[in-house]
Amino acid sequence: MSDHNAVRPDWLCGGCGQPWPCRTRQVQLLAEYDGALVSLALLMGTYFCDGAQELPDARAGDLYARFLGWLDPYRRSR
Ligand SMILES: [Zn+2]
Repeated sequence: MSDHNAVRPDWLCGGCGQPWPCRTRQVQLLAEYDGALVSLALLMGTYFCDGAQELPDARAGDLYARFLGWLDPYRRSR
């Protein structure tokens, strides 16, 4: 469905080169997991842990915002 997949260990989008998950992939994931936000959050939590290991120089707060921050239901516009 998507070429906007993570290229690891750099965690850049294979489709557009932006830090993954790029905005396009975020929209796709929200559509794929519509009504299952907890499942999506668990998946992104796994990626967050993987990313923390593979991007050791990144700040934890930045990684959190990148992998999980966009899932905040109070900031999400739908
Ligand atoms: Zn992309």
